[in-house]
Amino acid sequence: MSATPLQLTILGSGTSMGVPTIGCRCAVCTSPDPRDNRMRTSVLLSRNGQNVLIDTTPDFRSQALRAGIERLEAVLLTHGHADHIMGFDDLRPLSIGQKRPMPVYGNAQTFDIVRRAFAYAFDGKPKVSSVPSVLLKEINGPFELLGVRITPIPLEHGEMQVFGFRFGKAAYLTDFNAVPESSLAMLEGLDDLVLDALRDTPHPMHQTVEQALALVDKLKPKRAWFTHIAHDLGHAETNQRLERLGYGHVQLAYDGLQIEVATEASAHGAPSEVSEIAGLAVFDAAEKWRGFYGAGGRGSVLAIGNFDGIHLGHQAILKRAVELAAKTGAVATALTFEPSPLKVLRPESAPKRISTPEQRLEWFRAVDVESAVVLPFTVELSKLTPQQFVENILLRELAVRAVLVGENFRFGHKQAGDTNLLRELGSMHGFEVIALPPVSAHGEVVSSTVIRREIAVGNVTQAGRLLGRPYVLTGEIVRGTGTGHKFTFPTLNLKPDQELLPAAGVYITRTVLDGERKSRRSVTNIGVRPTFDGTALTVETHLLDFVGVAPARMELRFWKRLRSEKRFSGPEELRAQIARDIRSANRFFTLLRKFRILRLSD
Ligand SMILES: [Zn+2]
Ligand SMILES: [Zn+2]
Ligand SMILES: [Zn+2]
Repeated sequence: MSATPLQLTILGSGTSMGVPTIGCRCAVCTSPDPRDNRMRTSVLLSRNGQNVLIDTTPDFRSQALRAGIERLEAVLLTHGHADHIMGFDDLRPLSIGQKRPMPVYGNAQTFDIVRRAFAYAFDGKPKVSSVPSVLLKEINGPFELLGVRITPIPLEHGEMQVFGFRFGKAAYLTDFNAVPESSLAMLEGLDDLVLDALRDTPHPMHQTVEQALALVDKLKPKRAWFTHIAHDLGHAETNQRLERLGYGHVQLAYDGLQIEVATEASAHGAPSEVSEIAGLAVFDAAEKWRGFYGAGGRGSVLAIGNFDGIHLGHQAILKRAVELAAKTGAVATALTFEPSPLKVLRPESAPKRISTPEQRLEWFRAVDVESAVVLPFTVELSKLTPQQFVENILLRELAVRAVLVGENFRFGHKQAGDTNLLRELGSMHGFEVIALPPVSAHGEVVSSTVIRREIAVGNVTQAGRLLGRPYVLTGEIVRGTGTGHKFTFPTLNLKPDQELLPAAGVYITRTVLDGERKSRRSVTNIGVRPTFDGTALTVETHLLDFVGVAPARMELRFWKRLRSEKRFSGPEELRAQIARDIRSANRFFTLLRKFRILRLSD
């Protein structure tokens, strides 16, 4: 299975002082060739409209404006030298726009330098003006960003240990003079290698052209690109020299150069140690979370629950966990179970779930939870006594410092443990326990049971109020029977991932097509389509403003029920009713925009 390629853009290819160098009149510094203009070294990785930046150079602002960067999913820092971090403050406009701290990946030494150089961003004191809002994530193995596995490559840069990075079939290695033997193995089979080649004369912390070529000979990438280039090397002339030496596949990189990088599909490719959803670390096996929470770690603030739907009550628990974690420095963690305990213990009475694991992870991220631990719920796990559950899982595995649960939380074999027992165990083992009462909204106590009931009867507006967002179905777009299509309006058929569908009928919805950010006005029919003697339950959506080829997947947000499904005398009558439905939907959205009646996110 081939995957969307990653795009690597060279934002800067110059050495620490940049080229031209201030005050220098040499041939390269005064060259009219734009490729001899080199900002400080940095690259941008882009995939499916998302970006990751490597290094915030002193030129970062100019680089971001030139490349049109409006959003960053994360920043990777190779090391703490000034020419790689001094643009850190310019993350401010991006973090303001993104409403959540920007994840920044690096090693401990780099973070020490960043914390000292930009102390005002880390002292926790109230500020009159904005500061970069970041979440420092120490790298301790491969991780995933943009749906691609990122492998850190340890390199030697004089006395300093720095990181290069491999992603798919490319690697970016700036600032080094030696590659440890153990790192060489991680650089096999590359299509593109971007590597340090400062100049011809030796330097204690950088490679010369000759050393860079020797490494190219050893690693044998299909193509290689020099970076961190000093003003000693003119672009055109050095490329000609490389060609003459028989290195036609090796060239100097230049600012603005774009390289397409092949990636493996992450879903079925090599599994990563920690999978990430835009900054949320996700652990679904003990080997993985052990490395994260193990000895000497930050400990966890745990919000425990099934979190089906992540409704207003769940959101309150998760937000408290995030606040408490921020105060104590622990990891804000959502602890949840897969499959749901009831499905294992009493499958016949397990309710239909209103969210998928993917949605729950996305919503954890949206409230700034830092890590999700998905405990595989097995019969063995269900046999742990409350004491064993606390000691084996919460304490030993997750180094718990505080637990947040709903008031009616039960745990351990035969649900023997309640919040009182949890408090006792907490005071015994030294962790805090906070049990939150249920949240009420719009005259109802918010619970997954109530929300399921509202959805099942088609009251999607009330369900949305209790969820804090419209009820959402996601899934593949499938081919319908085509019967209705000929007679009425073009529709897209959804095969929902969720177990619970709203009652049969016609709904005002908004549709997000895969690959698009904006939602589109739509009308959705759920039912058996009685007019065409159908029998299978279908979810058919008519987009009010879409002409084109539908993608593979879409998301439907249910705003309001319009009417129940009815049988019409023929296609003409059905067509007239659908036209009325579309007018109702348009009126609804226009009103909504005007008055913002429902404060639901869109
Ligand atoms: Zn450098
Ligand atoms: Zn010069
Ligand atoms: Zn350096």
